[in-house]
Amino acid sequence: MNSGTVSSRTVNTAPINFVVRGATLPDGTSTDLFVSDGQFVDSAVAGATIIDAAGLTALPGLVDLHTHLREPGYEQSETVLTGSRAAAAGGFTAVHAMANTSPVADTAGVVEQVESLGDQHGYVTVRPIGAVTIGLGGERLSEIGAMAQSRARVRVFSDDGKCVSDALLMRRALEYVKTFGGVIAQHAQEPRLTEGAQMNEGALSGELGLAGWPAVAEESIIARDVLLAEHVGARLHVCHLSTAGSVDVIRWAKARGIQVTAEVTPHHLLLTEELARTYDSRYKVNPPLRRDEDVRVLREALADGTIDIVATDHAPHPIESKECAWDEASFGMVGLESALRVVQLAVVDTGLLNWTDVARVLSSKPAEIGRLAGYDQAFTIGSAANFTLYDATVNRVFGVGDLRGKGINSPYLGRELPGRVVATIHNGYPTVLDGDLVEAGQVEESAVRVHESTRSSRG
Ligand SMILES: [Zn+2]
Repeated sequence: MNSGTVSSRTVNTAPINFVVRGATLPDGTSTDLFVSDGQFVDSAVAGATIIDAAGLTALPGLVDLHTHLREPGYEQSETVLTGSRAAAAGGFTAVHAMANTSPVADTAGVVEQVESLGDQHGYVTVRPIGAVTIGLGGERLSEIGAMAQSRARVRVFSDDGKCVSDALLMRRALEYVKTFGGVIAQHAQEPRLTEGAQMNEGALSGELGLAGWPAVAEESIIARDVLLAEHVGARLHVCHLSTAGSVDVIRWAKARGIQVTAEVTPHHLLLTEELARTYDSRYKVNPPLRRDEDVRVLREALADGTIDIVATDHAPHPIESKECAWDEASFGMVGLESALRVVQLAVVDTGLLNWTDVARVLSSKPAEIGRLAGYDQAFTIGSAANFTLYDATVNRVFGVGDLRGKGINSPYLGRELPGRVVATIHNGYPTVLDGDLVEAGQVEESAVRVHESTRSSRG
């Protein structure tokens, strides 16, 4: 099925031995990191390539629980390869690929295909998410058990893009995933309350003449689902929280001991509905951008742990489905390349999170929710060398050149953002060096280039 798509792994995966000199770990300590044969080791291997990381923050490889890779079926928007490259450029070493492809990822065959494509390309680990219902149709459960038992060992199931609005189906899905420790990731959007909705419902939607998307459409589904999760005793994950009221419901559920986790996107931590005044469809997203007050509450909830993780909801679209009137444009933004920089701007530079918190919300916790092994003991000897080197001291305007996937529907184009992903290492192999994606056969040369450019820039 996959033969001919890719003839060989896209990144050079010959074993590389590294010494990363003087990196600053998330807790602020400075250290040397030794990497050999894909793992952290306790001392330098003879002949190892030296990377001068003075002044750079070493973060564990970022893990996205919510990426739309679009393949199979929508390759004009993104492919596993181009989305993997966008992810690596943003400091990610693993992504969970949403199921709303064509065919939908509702069978073992499709999820195995998506995982294999990720393995072949080698930029990031691609973990497929299985659909909850057949064809995302919301009527019959998909082959959840077959996907869980497949070679792809799927643990996250979601109809994202659509809400599992039928309460009985949601209950059955929760009962099913409970048997093997899986989780249902719900796109919480009551469909009848959001028919034709274009932006957050409030005074501004009235002023702009755009159909409103009430907060209660999200909050009512979350309230129902946490009660179902409690009743069943299963794990529930809530995608892209966007309202202060949703935070209240999650906080209440956690206090009751319900097994619920929640994510927020970088854009909901930074941007508000005021951007709809531009009628620029780059700001049209599902769920919609909300009020200043919602952004403030979401930031605080991430800081106090009510919201567990940041997930990108990377949603690439072809230019023609965005360069049109607001009403006709597709919902969604790309986010992999900008996520870490936006998180720094929204919650690190504002003093709400430190880098240890960032490592938790963008790496260890999303890996835990997705049951992705190897991310619970970052930087320890014998663990897989998945990490990124990040320069948090620079500010640069985000431009089209920063986008490495197919989608250019970023809300940050032209906006100054802090930070720069200098290097990304996936299972000990460099996928990004000196801020550039590594291409096959370029590893050694690029490794030297990082060393020299870092040294020269520091005099
Ligand atoms: Zn969604």
